[in-house]
Parts: sequence; C-alpha cells; structure tokens
Amino acid sequence: MELAEDNARSLNFIETIIEEDLKDKKNNRKIHFRFPPEPNGYLHIGHAKSICLNFGLAEKYNGLCNLRFDDTNPAKEDVEYVDSIKEDIQWLGFQWNDEPLYASNYFDQLYTWAVQMIKQGNAYVDEQSQEEISRQKGVPTRPGEESAYRNRPAEENLVLFEKMKNGEVPDGAMVLRAKINMSSPNMHMRDPIMYRVLHAEHHRTGNKWNIYPMYDFAHGQSDYIEGITHSLCTLEFEIHRPLYDWFLDQIAEAGRPRPRQIEFARLNLSYTVMSKRKLLEMVEQRLVSGWDDPRMPTISGLRRRGYTPEAIREFADRIGIAKRDNVIDVGLLEFSVREHLNKITPRVFGVLDPVKVIITNYPEDKEEMLELINNPEDETAGKRLVPFSHELYIERNDFMEEPPRKFFRLGPGREVRLKGAYIVMCEDYKKDDSGNITEIYCTYDPESKSGSTGSQRKVKGTLHWVSVQHAVDAEVRLYDRLFLDEDPAGHKEHDFKEFLNPDSLKILQNCKLEPSLQTVQPGDKFQFQRIGYFCVDKESRPEHLVFNRTVALRDSWKKKGRS
Ligand code: ATP
Ligand code: MG
Repeated sequence: MELAEDNARSLNFIETIIEEDLKDKKNNRKIHFRFPPEPNGYLHIGHAKSICLNFGLAEKYNGLCNLRFDDTNPAKEDVEYVDSIKEDIQWLGFQWNDEPLYASNYFDQLYTWAVQMIKQGNAYVDEQSQEEISRQKGVPTRPGEESAYRNRPAEENLVLFEKMKNGEVPDGAMVLRAKINMSSPNMHMRDPIMYRVLHAEHHRTGNKWNIYPMYDFAHGQSDYIEGITHSLCTLEFEIHRPLYDWFLDQIAEAGRPRPRQIEFARLNLSYTVMSKRKLLEMVEQRLVSGWDDPRMPTISGLRRRGYTPEAIREFADRIGIAKRDNVIDVGLLEFSVREHLNKITPRVFGVLDPVKVIITNYPEDKEEMLELINNPEDETAGKRLVPFSHELYIERNDFMEEPPRKFFRLGPGREVRLKGAYIVMCEDYKKDDSGNITEIYCTYDPESKSGSTGSQRKVKGTLHWVSVQHAVDAEVRLYDRLFLDEDPAGHKEHDFKEFLNPDSLKILQNCKLEPSLQTVQPGDKFQFQRIGYFCVDKESRPEHLVFNRTVALRDSWKKKGRS
C-alpha cells in the first residue's frame, strides 16, 4: 500500500520533533515515553494506536517507555482492568520499562508539592459548591469572578488542606485550587481544581487518602518524576497544555529533563464506538457477552476474534500519525487482518451449511487420502491428507436446481471440480416435503484426479467439500459489524445503542469440518477455503468445537455498497 511506503520514507511530525531534540542534545539525548491508561476499562483499538506510537518510538529511538496507570479516580478503577491492560500490551508485542508504575505511587510527592504551592501563595482552599465555582468561571469571552476564598492567608489554607487530607471534611465540601488567572481566555487556567475530597477506597492505597489529585495536577508531575521527555497525548489535551506547563513551572528544577506534551489525533473508526463509558454500558447491559466479545473493538475482543498483533501493528503503521481528527474506515483494519492471515493460516475445508452429495459410481467402502497444500503463500507449511469417500458434504448454496448461466457451481447436468479431488457431474437430486434439497447425486470422472495426467481437463467451478463419515462437527459463530451506522455515537437525538446491528452474531450449529481439525486449540487460526478466516474460540472443547469467523475472504460491505 502507498500509505505504508510513504510512512517508511518520511518522518511523522512527532519523529521530526524527536530527531531535532536528539540533534540539539536536549535532555542529554535521553528519549523516554509513557503509556498512561486509566484502569477503568479494557483497552480498545484506539489505545492500540497510542501503544504502537509510544512503544514503537521507544524502540525506534533506543529509548524507554513506561507503563503508568493513571489511577487518580478510585471510584471507577479496578485490578481486573490493570491485569487486562498488561496482558493486552504484551500481546501486542511490547514490553514496558522496568515495573508497571502508578500515579498513586506519587500521591505523597504530589501532596508535598501542593503544600509548597500553598505556602508560595499559588494555591488555596475553596469552600464554595461545585455549581458556584463553575458559575464564577463563566464563559471564555468574559472574565470570570474570583472566589471569596481566593485571598485567604496561606496559614489558613494549610490548616484546611490538612483537614481535607485527614478525612475531617465531607466529600464535596472543599477543594484545593491553583491560583492562576480568573480572566484567562483559556478556561483551564481559571483557578483549576487540584484536589477534591473523596472518601473512597483506592485499589492500591486503600484508605490512606481522603483527597485525590485531579488528572491535570497529577499527569505532568508524574511525567516529570519519571523523567519522561515526550508526553504524547490526544488532541483534546491541547487546551490543557498551558496548565501542564504552568504546574511544571511550579516544581521543575534546573538540570532535570522537563517533559514536553505533544498532541496527536486520536483514532476514530467507522461503525464502532470507542469510549470506555459506552463499551462498559454494553457490557453491563449484556448487549455483548463481555469486554472480550469478538464484536467489541477492545484488544481482547479482537484477539478472541482472531486478529493478530502483527495485523494491528501494521494497521497502526498504515494510518500513521496526524495532527487533525479524522475517521478511519474499519475496512482498512479488516484489510490488514486479511493480509496477515492470508500469509500465516493453513487452508482447510469447512462446510458451514452442509448438503449431502452421493458419488454413485464411487465404491461405498472405498476411501482415499488426498494430498492437499496447506498454504500456497507459504511453502514451508507443507501438505496434509484429506479423506475422500462415497458421501460428501458441500455448501448448500453451491447447488441450484435451476442455475443461471453464470452460476459456475453445481446444478443438474453440470460439472464442477471438488478441490484437490475429482470432477463430478450432477445427475439427480432429492427434496423433502418443504422443498429443501436433501441429497445430490453425482458421478465422478476417475481420470480427473487432481495432480494426475488426466487432471488437465478444465471446468469452471471448484468447490470445497468434506467426507461425511470423516467429518468433524463444529459450531461456527459468524460476526458482522456491531453497529449499522458509520458513526453510532455521532447522533445528538439518538442513543448509540439504537444503531446496534441485530444480526451482528449468527450461530451455526451444524458445520462439518475436515478431520484434521479435531485437535485444534483455542486461538488456532485457519482459512476455511472459499469462505474466510476462522479462529478457535476460548470456549471450544474437543467434544464441542467452536470457531469464530475473524473476517470473510472479501469485504462484503463494499460489495453491498453499504460502506
Ligand atoms: P476513553 O475516552 O475511551 O475513556 P481515555 O482517553 O480516557 O479513553 P485512557 O485510559 O486515559 O483512556 O487512555 C490512555 C492513553 O490512550 C491516553 O494517552 C489516550 O490519549 C490514548 N487514547 C485513548 N483513546 C485513544 C484513541 N482513540 N486513539 C489514540 N489514542 C487514544
Ligand atoms: Mg483519559
């Protein structure tokens, strides 16, 4: 693809900044990133972009990348999320520097800095209600109003802040605010809140704290403590940057690397939602089976569906890094997945909607082991033996009673090749009372065996098949897009859930697979020839095989003109 080649040739704007910093010997040429997830949900494909960016740049420039949990909001956080985040990053093929870090490791240091700011007259305790504070902030076009508590003496602030910390103040009764500028056109500079009172148990610090720092007061300082040089974040934080720098001004010492915040456009994908709040809502309302439901845009969902880390990393590379928001067609992600699976998956025969074919001139007690190539894209993948016999399954839609001229599959009086086997001719068929085809009768041409001298004879259609007596049963789950709308969360008048695709999951219980698949393990991936890519689900057992369709061979949405 052109995009990927372009990427290989030219630097993106973040790489340009880094290379200039290296040239200028900034921070002694130290390069240090961090990926800062909030452990309040599972990671999604948007996070994957950020992971690939941060860890990828660290690899490219011989730098480091920390994993830092931004755990300043105890009410919504959970150890389950911490664990899943670690697993997902490692699965993508990245390893963080040293141990995972937590913003909560720095609560003592942050508190000390807050006290220092109070002493210097740069922070104050405000006892007004949240509503009053927002009202006074006003609108960007007009100066806000100063709080009556803004100018109280430092000693008084220190006593109150200590009380807040010691749990002597009820939730919401007081906040600590930075004293910056109530007339700033940037609303974030209008005396932002640094600490709030919250009597909540924290998953790491337990009940030690009754106050918790706000994101803006914790993030830049955490970057600074860890020696982060380039703090990459999404565009919505651009407006926070003056505050990020202002807080650093209060604490930064000469001679230590000072982090620089750089914003990039978040990944938006069509036909999905990516806010953790919305994903959580779907999990809680059981609209999906869990965070790792194969229809979810979460990394764990994509993994379960059969996506590979290589495909996701390639996708992240292809979309590149932009400074302006855009929406990426989910088809591009699927394209990357298909491209990788095409290279690595063994080809197998699986019939999803079987109908029986009886080869009338093939002896009932005979069976032949036919040799088939595992992967034409990969010579090292070798060959396997597939049994052929008197009764076979083919795909129901590969037969028509009255086929049109261009239907190059099976119909009365028509010939097709059974892949890797023989050419067969349809002589007759049987129907049940409701008109469903129950059996198709064919004769085979013994001279037409694939690979033999007689195999030169050409017919237009080639079908996949599975021998009836050797077939393995399986459940196959077919997934389609979770939403029918390109931008389900983008409609003011409608809840995103109104656009859920009612047909996003179809379960087929009666699929017939070639016998080599009896021994598959969860996570194994295959191409079912002529159908698509499939992955063994975590619920699969030898006595009840379960496959997920990862992606169809072709983009059916394009064909239907839906995208
Ligand atoms: P959400 O809004 O879904 O809750 P978040 O941005 O609050 O997501 P965090 O856990 O704070 O989630 O995100 C961790 C990192 O991943 C942040 O640096 C954030 O900028 C980045 N990130 C989150 N979503 C995307 C996205 N769609 N594209 C790129 N980066 C993202
Ligand atoms: Mg966030």
